[in-house]
Amino acid sequence: MGKFDKFCQSCGMPMEKDELGGGTNQDGSKTTKYCSHCYEKGAFKDNFTDVKQMVCLVRGKLKEMGYGPIKRWFFSSHIPKLERWAQ
Ligand SMILES: [Zn+2]
Repeated sequence: MGKFDKFCQSCGMPMEKDELGGGTNQDGSKTTKYCSHCYEKGAFKDNFTDVKQMVCLVRGKLKEMGYGPIKRWFFSSHIPKLERWAQ
């Protein structure tokens, strides 16, 4: 397990929480870099161009899950540093 295997490098979700165990590459093989919610058949499922869009989506999902504002900030603050966005 490298350091990029722990969290989805697009949305920051812990990979162990991914019920499908990761997204899929173009050839159908699994990738542990991105989760199944973000990545399918070698492409991102969203068409986000700005990390702010992902942060907004994740904060919305955390709110649905019942997390308060501090935890929502905490769980989304590392997203800009993920491999997909850190350019
Ligand atoms: Zn993801």
